[in-house]
Amino acid sequence: MSHCPENKDAPLPVKSRGKSLLLSLPMLAITASMLAGRGAFATNGSTFAYFASLFFLNFMFYKMVRTGKTDKYRAIVFITLAGAAAFSFMSFFLELRGAFGVTPSEIMRGEVPACHMVLPMLFLPALFSKTIVFPGLITGGFASIAVLTVFWAAATLTIGKGYCSWFCFLGGFEDGFSRIFKSPVIKRIRPDLRLLPFAVLLTAVLTSAYTLTHTYCEWVCPYKMVTEFEQVVSLKLLVQSAIFIFTFSLLVVALPLLTRLRTQCAFFCPFGAMQTLAGKLAPFEIRIDTEKCSRCGKCLTECPDFSLDKDSLERGKPHISCHLCGKCVDLCPDKAIFFHIKGTSLKTDLEAQRIFFLYPAFTFLAGITGMNLQQALLRIINFFA
Ligand code: SF4
Ligand code: SF4
Repeated sequence: MSHCPENKDAPLPVKSRGKSLLLSLPMLAITASMLAGRGAFATNGSTFAYFASLFFLNFMFYKMVRTGKTDKYRAIVFITLAGAAAFSFMSFFLELRGAFGVTPSEIMRGEVPACHMVLPMLFLPALFSKTIVFPGLITGGFASIAVLTVFWAAATLTIGKGYCSWFCFLGGFEDGFSRIFKSPVIKRIRPDLRLLPFAVLLTAVLTSAYTLTHTYCEWVCPYKMVTEFEQVVSLKLLVQSAIFIFTFSLLVVALPLLTRLRTQCAFFCPFGAMQTLAGKLAPFEIRIDTEKCSRCGKCLTECPDFSLDKDSLERGKPHISCHLCGKCVDLCPDKAIFFHIKGTSLKTDLEAQRIFFLYPAFTFLAGITGMNLQQALLRIINFFA
């Protein structure tokens, strides 16, 4: 049985208003510059959207720093950004084409906005057939494959699997639905289901390489419902649309409600499985002080990713699927779970380690996906103006 050394001398979360403000100021500078993209101050409406987004995001970061509650404020931002992104995409597409669905001519021209979920399906066809199996822009534009790959690599090397709770706003839908009921209706989940995403990943990678199409995106992805889907102009597209409605209703709405788990992320997402493996490269992890832990079991029932069980409490760490949401850190009555920088002593200042993690994590969350909030606010303002 491994033991984390005692952390009894670890400081409590930052409480002083002044120190919290000081610790939050660099984030204000980072997000202020990242959100000040092209057109941010072009009109009164865009200026209002910029400052409103900046205030909301930085107030949440300040609360995260001051209260020591990571997941509580992360979830507010994450869920808000998921809704804002869906609204922003849909209204943009409606404005652009007068319809939500991607048109056949956009597919022919290879102009479909790329999504990071497709990345695992691109590698083998690109390597062996020199084919990009996604009808999107390869370079140029914010939603091109090259830009997404750079963001993915940067996020993977800094926050690792934390990508799924801090960057992939699509997870915000499940995060929201999984919090609606106070206790789960479905309580018993088979532990071997943890392997399912790896099977989905393998299937998606191999079938994509064989068919030279992005199979998971074409046939399964529930998030097509809130991003982009092809206009239904054939029986095949009608069947695919029916599958998207089914997978979204089941995996993103019904099962998260009934289990209080992010079921699509935990059990079906091929990108999440790839991120579980790639996330090993990142410097941050969650650790458990096995001596402080009173085995109350609170974290086991609250982890939204099925990453904690009794073995985790003995090993001193969650399963590798942990996406560093921080919920267990917030809830642990013994302060036995903490963010940890790999390679450092487990006695290192716990709050300092949390702040070190929060900076890259919140930069991805607010600095990049925060633009969706700006866009959504601007569209609402323009609509009423
Ligand atoms: S919530 Fe904290 S004290 Fe309770 S079982 Fe988990 S780590 Fe141990
Ligand atoms: S182990 Fe903790 S940080 Fe990791 S996913 Fe579960 S609740 Fe979140």
